[in-house]
Amino acid sequence: MSKSSEIIKNYLSQGKKVLTEFESKELLEKIGIPITKQKLTSDKNDVVRFADEIGYPVVMKLMADDVVHKSDAGAVKLNLQNKEEIEKSFDELMNIPSKSEKKINIQKMADEPITEIIIGMTTDPQFGPALMFGIGGILVELLEDVSFRIAPIEKFDANEMIHEIKGFPLLDGFRGKPKADIDAIIDALLKVSDLVIQNPEIYEMDLNPIFVYNSGIVCVDARIILKD
Ligand code: ADP
Ligand code: MG
Repeated sequence: MSKSSEIIKNYLSQGKKVLTEFESKELLEKIGIPITKQKLTSDKNDVVRFADEIGYPVVMKLMADDVVHKSDAGAVKLNLQNKEEIEKSFDELMNIPSKSEKKINIQKMADEPITEIIIGMTTDPQFGPALMFGIGGILVELLEDVSFRIAPIEKFDANEMIHEIKGFPLLDGFRGKPKADIDAIIDALLKVSDLVIQNPEIYEMDLNPIFVYNSGIVCVDARIILKD
């Protein structure tokens, strides 16, 4: 059994259905999708130590099973510059009401991207795992500018998914911006495809957003939902 299958079976045996951002990104890292360096802890000194280790600025988020839309709950603290800001954020995050166990996800603040993208997966009752690709932000939310393919996909399909959205120019040097690393996006789409084919226990995935650069990508938020 592959590492990812073992991890998923383990969550299921604990009765876990919705993985937190930390758990979801940990799994993505195992399959080779780049994520922000992250650490899960409930100890304030630990948070400061990890920030010193990875370097400022950092991001802190509250991880709790019942806090799903983190920004709406005030559970995302961006661009923290020093120990004082970390300690203040720690107290504020830990004071957010929740019935679940609360921990802090301290992570690297990713550099400003060329653009944000989304890779998703939903389970179609008829066709099974469907992969989704789109440009992050309003293009997905308002204009529903996304492409879909039934998994498994090959490189050719991944390339088409990226090129067929209306927002493609944003990845292709729009208004003098650098071009996005299309190969890195293709690679991530293929890895998500492999993961969901190897693990039919996965019901839904949302890598949202992934920051895209001229060289490389990094997933800054993710959610994986398992089947009952
Ligand atoms: P939500 O649960 O509300 O979707 P996110 O984790 O996606 O919370 O954080 C909200 C936004 O904050 C993201 O869409 C992204 O723009 C920004 N963000 C989150 N984490 C990072 C990070 N590590 N580095 C840089 N920006 C981040
Ligand atoms: Mg998000």
